[in-house]
Amino acid sequence: MMIDFRREASDILAELEGLRAADAPTHGGRVLSYVYDSGLPELDELAARAARLVQPVNGLDPTTFTSVAAMEAGVVGFARRVFGGADDDEVVGSVTSGGTESCLLAVKTARDVWRSARAGSPRVPRIVAPVTVHAAFHKAAEYFGLELDLVPVDPATGTTSAAAIEERLGDDVALVVVSAPSYPFATLDPVADVAAITGPRGIALHVDACIGGFALAFWPDPLPAWDLRVPGVTSLSADLHKYGYAPKGVSVLLTRGRDRQRHQYFATTAWPGYPVVNPTLTGSKPAGPLAAAWAIVEALGDGGFAALTEQTARATAALRESVAAIDGLRVVGAPTGPLFAVAVDEAVPVERRVDPHHWADAARASGWHLQLQPGLEQADGSRLPHTTHLTVTPVTEAVLPELSAALVAAADAVRGEPAVDGWALVSELAQSLPGGIEALAAASAGLDSAGAAGLLRAFGLLGGDGAAGALPDRLAPVLALVGALPPKLTERLLVELLARVVEPRAELP
Ligand SMILES: *Cc1c(COP(=O)(O)O)cnc(C)c1O
Repeated sequence: MMIDFRREASDILAELEGLRAADAPTHGGRVLSYVYDSGLPELDELAARAARLVQPVNGLDPTTFTSVAAMEAGVVGFARRVFGGADDDEVVGSVTSGGTESCLLAVKTARDVWRSARAGSPRVPRIVAPVTVHAAFHKAAEYFGLELDLVPVDPATGTTSAAAIEERLGDDVALVVVSAPSYPFATLDPVADVAAITGPRGIALHVDACIGGFALAFWPDPLPAWDLRVPGVTSLSADLHKYGYAPKGVSVLLTRGRDRQRHQYFATTAWPGYPVVNPTLTGSKPAGPLAAAWAIVEALGDGGFAALTEQTARATAALRESVAAIDGLRVVGAPTGPLFAVAVDEAVPVERRVDPHHWADAARASGWHLQLQPGLEQADGSRLPHTTHLTVTPVTEAVLPELSAALVAAADAVRGEPAVDGWALVSELAQSLPGGIEALAAASAGLDSAGAAGLLRAFGLLGGDGAAGALPDRLAPVLALVGALPPKLTERLLVELLARVVEPRAELP
C-alpha cells in the first residue's frame, strides 16, 4: 500500500531541530544539572546506534526478545560487581526506567516484605530517612501508602547521625533510606553506622546512589564503605542515565536476597489475556535505553569509567575551590562525589554576602545554568538555607577557566544584594489580587484549575491566553515565592503551570 505522507521527513526533522535549538544546551558543560556529558561524542553515537538496533523490541518479555535478557544480565552483572555485591550470590537486580522507578520499587518491595511478616496488620508502615533524601521517596510513600518520617539534618553541614535515625526506629518501620550521596547537599550518609543498627533489628536499608553511584564506585579518593560491601544494606539504586552517561531512561536496582526481591514483582493470571509478570512498574517498555547503557558499559569497561571519574573528580575539586574562594559564598558541608551546594556565607559582613539565588540568576544571564534549591523548615523548627546546586561532569574540566571566571563575575555583580524577601512579595501580590490577602488564604484551602491559572497570571507566570509564558529572566523571586507561600498552595500552582506548559496552544498546520 502506498501512503501519501502529509509532510516530508526532512521537513519534520528540520522543525524538530528548530525546537531543539531552543532547549538548554545538553552538551558542552553549560548546564550544571539534569545532563551528564561524558565529553565523548563517539560514546553518544554508540549509544544511539545500540538503541536504534533494538528500537522495535518490547522489553516486556525477555523470553520472546532474548536480547533484552542478555543485556539486562550484563548491566546488572556490572552494577553488582562495582557496587561490591559480586561475592554474594544473593545479590540480584533489575534494570528500571530511571532513578524514580528504582526508588519506587525499593519502597514497594520493602512494604510488601514488611506486610508479609505481619499478615493483617492494620498499621501504616513507615520509611525513616534524613530530610535530604530524594523526593522520589516522597512520591513512593504517597503512591504506596507509607508514612515518610524525615530526620532533620544539621543546617550547617547537611548531615545527620546514625543515632538520630536509631531514635526513630520501631516495629512499624519498613525501610530506612540513606543517600550516597544526597542530591541537595552531596552528603554521604553514614551507611555503615546506620546498617549496624538496622541490620540486627531486621529492618531493610536502602542506599540511594542514584546520582553518584557510578561515579563513587570509581572515585579516586578513599571513601567510607557505602555500598553492598556493607552487611545490612538490603538494596541499592544507581542511575545509568547519570554517571553511566546513557540517554535518559535507565537505572539499576540491586537487592540482597532473592526472596526479598521477588516481592518487587507483580504477577497475575487472573484475566483472559497473556499472563502478566512484571519486575518493574510498566508493561510494554523500550529496550533502547538498556541497549545504550549496555553498549556504553561494554565500551568503557572499568578503565574507561575510572578515567572519566578521575576527570570529573579533578573538575569538581577545582570548581569547588574556586567557588569556596568567592567572598560571600560558602560550600555546604563536606560534599562527597561530583556535586555540591552553595549557600550564603553569613560569617562575612552583610555588604559582602552573596545570595546564592541572585548569583545563579547572574550566572544564567551569561549562559551558565546552575540549579536553585529552596530553603526548608525541618520538623525540629530549624531552617535549611536556600542554596544553589552544581553537578559536575567529565566535560566540565574543558570549560573550567571560563566557568570559574563567569561564577566570580556573577558574584561580583550581585554582592551585597539581599535575598528576595518572599513574605514581602506575597503580601504585595496579595494586595494586587481582586480579593486581597483573603483571596490568597482562600486559595490555600483549595483551587480549581481556573483559580490556579488566575493566581499564576497575577504572579506574572502565565500569559493572558492561559498558556505558560517563557521562564522569567530571574528565578530568585520565583524561588522566594515558593519558600513563602504555603507548600500545598505552591504545589498546586506548580502543577497548574506544568500542566499548561504542555497543553496544545494552536492546531497543527
Ligand atoms: C536523580 C535522583 C533520583 C531520581 O532519579 P530520576 O532518574 O530523576 O528519576 C533519586 N535519587 C537521587 C539521589 C537522585 O539524584
